[in-house]
Formats: sequence, C-alpha cells, structure tokens
Amino acid sequence: MATRKAPPAKCPTCKGSGEVARAVRVGRKRRSVGQQTGLCLACLGSGEAAE
Ligand SMILES: [Zn+2]
Repeated sequence: MATRKAPPAKCPTCKGSGEVARAVRVGRKRRSVGQQTGLCLACLGSGEAAE
C-alpha cells in the first residue's frame, strides 16, 4: 500500500515560478520599454497556489 503525497498545486498566475513578467512603461505615452520580473502577488513568490 503505497502512500503518495499530492504535489502542491502550482500557482496559476506565475505557473509555479513565483515571479511574473510585467511590462514596464514610461512617460505619458506609455511607451513600453521592456519587461520586468516582479514578485507574484497571487502566491507572494512561493509558487504554490493558495487554497
Ligand atoms: Zn504565483
């Protein structure tokens, strides 16, 4: 009788990485200057989906 633990669900927002890429915009024209990696606010960087 094998006991298996279910792996923690990955955060759907960051897909388990704990980080999300967000566009960086500057100026009034909102010109995109690239992307920046930021902390995932959904899981606070843990990468696991909150229940
Ligand atoms: Zn996340």
